[in-house]
Parts: sequence; C-alpha cells; structure tokens
Amino acid sequence: MTQVFNFSSGPAMLPVEVLRRAEQELCNWNGLGTSVMEISHRSKEFMQVAQDAEKDFRDLLKIPSNYKVLFCHGGARAQFAAVPMNLLGQAKSADYVDGGYWAQSAIKEAHKYCVPNVIDAKTTVDGKRAITAMKSWALNDDAAYVHFCPNETIDGIAINEQPDFGDKVVVADLSSTILSHSIDVTRYGVIYAGAQKNIGPAGLTLVIVRDDLLGKASQALPSVLDYSVLAENESMFNTPPTFAWYLSGLVFKWLKEQGGVDEIDKVNQAKADLLYGVIDRSDFYRNDVAVANRSRMNVPFQLADAALDKRFLEESFDAGLHALKGHRVVGGMRASIYNAMPLEGVKALTDFMVDFERRHG
Ligand code: PMP
Repeated sequence: MTQVFNFSSGPAMLPVEVLRRAEQELCNWNGLGTSVMEISHRSKEFMQVAQDAEKDFRDLLKIPSNYKVLFCHGGARAQFAAVPMNLLGQAKSADYVDGGYWAQSAIKEAHKYCVPNVIDAKTTVDGKRAITAMKSWALNDDAAYVHFCPNETIDGIAINEQPDFGDKVVVADLSSTILSHSIDVTRYGVIYAGAQKNIGPAGLTLVIVRDDLLGKASQALPSVLDYSVLAENESMFNTPPTFAWYLSGLVFKWLKEQGGVDEIDKVNQAKADLLYGVIDRSDFYRNDVAVANRSRMNVPFQLADAALDKRFLEESFDAGLHALKGHRVVGGMRASIYNAMPLEGVKALTDFMVDFERRHG
C-alpha cells in the first residue's frame, strides 16, 4: 500500500511512533497484563500517567505554577459554555472577537449566559480575507473577559499577534494551534483546546486557568464544567477519559523528543512555506487569506476550475493523500498540517499538486 498522509482537520493524524508504542503495550500495559483503558483512574499506575502527562504539558508550554491544568470532557464546545459560566461572576457582558466560524460558534453559545459585546475583526486587505489589528478592537470596560480564537480551523485564518490588554482577562480557544509554537501563557486568563488536533485523541479537552479566576462559577454550572471543582479534584471529579489522557501523554513525550515547541515551530514554518509557496506560484491554485493572517495549521485552497475538485480529491486519495476535502462552508480543499504531519507529507502533497496541474492545467 502507498504510504498514507492524513490531512484531516480533526480528529487528525497522530505521530506514528506514538501509535506504535500504544499498539505494543495495548494488551499488557506496564506489565499489568491489562490495557491502560481497563484500570482505575485512581490506581497508582494511572495517577503516574496523569501526573507525567501534566508535567510534560506544563514543561512544553512553560506554564507558570499559578495556573491549573484541567483534563476535561466535552470538547471545546463544552468550553463555549464553561467559560462564561465560570468567569462572568456578577458581570453581564463579555467581549467576543469574531474572526471566523469557531469564534462565531462561541458567541452563539455565550448568548445563553451573557450579552456578548461582539467585535467584528474580519476585514479584507487587497481583496484577501484578513483580521484587524488588536489595538483597534473596541473592548468594553464592563466585560468580564475578552474571548478570541487565534486559529480558525475552517477559515484557515490566524491571529498572530500576542494579546496585550493590560488587566483584561484574556480567554483563547487554541484548539487548532496549541503546542505548534510557543506562547506566553501569562498573557492569558484561560486557554482551552480540544485534544483531537495537536494533543491526542478526541474525548479530552485541556484547560489552563489562572488561579485567581477560580471560585466565581455560577450556581447553575454543572459540576463537571466547574473549574474549581475540577481543580480541587485534580481533574478526577468524575472518571476522566483515561485512554485519551494516556495517549496525549505519549504525544507530549514525543514532542519533547522532537526538541519541544520551538523546534516543531520551525518544522511547521517550513511545511507552511512549502505549501503556500506552491499555491502562490501558480494561477491553478488559490488561497484567499492575506499573508499576515494565514494559518500554518489549516491551509484552505481552491482550484481555479472547481469542476476539477472531484478529480483532485480522487487522485490525491489514490496517491495516499487523504482527507483534503475543504469544510462544507468553505468548499475547495483544505490541508491540515498539525505537528504530527512530517515535512515529507507536505512534500508529497506539493509534488502531487504540481503534477496534477501539469496534467490538468
Ligand atoms: N474550536 C475550534 C478552533 C475548533 O477547530 C473546533 C473543532 N474543530 C472546536 C472549537 C469544536 O471542538 P469540539 O468538537 O471538540 O467541541
């Protein structure tokens, strides 16, 4: 079989070394004669897995000790509700920056709990989709926090500026960019991310929350979403998704072996440069995001002749390049190139694109 490279936006490909290790120890984990899925989350063996994963994650992102790391259920969408219910306190409103599909989804959910002050950051630069500068965002003094999504998985748009809003509590949905480059965690009050892109399998959501933001939860907040309850119980208030936690721990170890976040950042840049380079060099392919706001994780592109889309997808699939179909709201193609995608995968894709153009251009 041709080697397969999986460009899925999530659940996305995992490092093959991690999958092999999990395969090897699946039925007899840690010499216990059972799999890690079948043991108590409170056993000393699993507690070690849990602690190691948290330590490695903290090391990778240099998370200061005044932040809790919570291993949650519910995906990033549960956080769309958990964030306002944990953080609003007495406030009635929160600032929400609209940069694309997922920011809008968070706003829609926030309407259930507060009056979101929506800051439309979408703009165009020379006819290309872009995001307005952070300093132009009209934040509201009464807002309990400002929420934004630095990488829009569907739109392929990234906000590359680092937030700098003084005392304002900054909340960010890092689902599709976490661990792809280093960030200054101290600029944020809450960071959350669904696991199924750069962390591990679906079913786990990571939340990083600054200590002083705990204890403000609304009475109506379900305990399983309450950051204070989760923190007090070391993310074991209810049974956590143990297999996803274990596997994410292996991904963190793998990432450390790659040299950590700064080293993977360089590979991610090289992959993005290669792919956007091929798109930009031809009239056959097109990406309509302004260069400064292009995502390095999710690269949407269109063929000049949409009648060739089906053929592109069929032929790329046969060449071992899977899951390139764009999201239904955008159309065209999308290549998601998270940490686990090796440079050779992007090379295989760009070689295919050049060849496809030669044959059909
Ligand atoms: N935010 C972003 C940026 C996403 O990419 C996604 C999923 N693709 C979500 C939120 C929703 O995540 P989940 O399906 O884990 O709830």
